[in-house]
Amino acid sequence: MFDLILRRATLPDGRTGLDIGIKDGRIAAVEFSLPGATGEEIDATGRLVTPPFVDAHFHMDSTLSYGMPRVNRSGTLLEGIALWGELKPQLVQDSIIERAMAYCDWAVARGLLAIRSHVDVCDPRLLAVEALLEVKRRVAPYLDLQLVAFPQDGVLRAPGTEELLLQALDMGVDVVGGIPHFERTMADGAASVRLLCEIAAERGLLVDMHCDESDDPLSRHVETLAYEAHRLGMQGRVTGSHLTSMHSMDNYYVSKLIPLMAEARLGVIANPLINITLQGRHDTYPKRRGMTRVPELMAAGLTVAFGHDCVMDPWYPLGSGDMLEVAHMGLHVGQMTGHDGIVASFDAVTANPARLLHLDGYGLEVGCHADLVVLQANGPVEAIRTRATRLFVLRRGRVVSRCAPVRAELDLPGRPQSVAFTTPVV
Ligand SMILES: [Zn+2]
Repeated sequence: MFDLILRRATLPDGRTGLDIGIKDGRIAAVEFSLPGATGEEIDATGRLVTPPFVDAHFHMDSTLSYGMPRVNRSGTLLEGIALWGELKPQLVQDSIIERAMAYCDWAVARGLLAIRSHVDVCDPRLLAVEALLEVKRRVAPYLDLQLVAFPQDGVLRAPGTEELLLQALDMGVDVVGGIPHFERTMADGAASVRLLCEIAAERGLLVDMHCDESDDPLSRHVETLAYEAHRLGMQGRVTGSHLTSMHSMDNYYVSKLIPLMAEARLGVIANPLINITLQGRHDTYPKRRGMTRVPELMAAGLTVAFGHDCVMDPWYPLGSGDMLEVAHMGLHVGQMTGHDGIVASFDAVTANPARLLHLDGYGLEVGCHADLVVLQANGPVEAIRTRATRLFVLRRGRVVSRCAPVRAELDLPGRPQSVAFTTPVV
């Protein structure tokens, strides 16, 4: 009766020993000891089975371009933006597609099956937009790629950028982006937030802006973003990415700001790998961490996700599409090493970004898509601790990636013959 049964699964909420029955690409049953013959069975042997990882913030037009045309010597945000400006005129569509497709292969192997990627719309040729729309079409059978129209150089800085953004939306880009802190003045930044939210409201689209990505305690575009979300009736449809200035803001001001954000049901995306490296660059010592106030925002009931942001591009030389690495860094920077904090960090790379992307059929309930990852770990904490191997990745009930469990063979007198860094499973 089932096409496939995943037996003896441990779920992220701690329930264990459950069988997951899959039929026609969807979860058809989650029960103990499911009876019946099936086409295929996978024994999870008590290991963690989770819905896939979701990256709510990425730049797929620049990924895997590290060193093109040169490396970022200072490692700073501004040299990265300048470098991207040098690379942009040299881009050809085929190479963007090739790099993005290669990254999507990595993503699938890491159990990362949904990505929201910003795509720069400031290039009058809209080359990257065309390329990523093609990638979105190609990967659709195995990966949900959501695109954000991102005016990297500011929507108000150069004449014609608003038209390019509208053109990108007409071509099929899903979400409205922005970068208010990069506009010329605070007033222009606020005007850009208003303009872009109105465009999204009119078209019925979601909003996700790079917002206050600086250490300036007075960069307060997030306040405008929350205000506009509320004014336009877009509660739960607007997200602020980075919000790093919140790290440096006055505590009294933040005590007023967070309830305003909660009222607008603003989504929040921190990008810990990038925020910890790019922020605090003007500090001597002590150096600020520069990540937004993740535990406080979570405590206020906001949906907070951790994004990867960059992999091997002008801004970041490292990364491999591993959202467990992102969660690992996020919980360190946010000092979330208590048990609940670690579990919340796992949610920040799975269920929370799925909510921000408005993904349909995501989860472990009956009727959800059978998009699942079996990890070499007994739960979310061990998964993050070991950056666990993805043993099986399923998309719509079909195994799309598999990996042998990692263990080292030892040759030590009187000691076990191998070691896997995991605690024993059933
Ligand atoms: Zn970004």
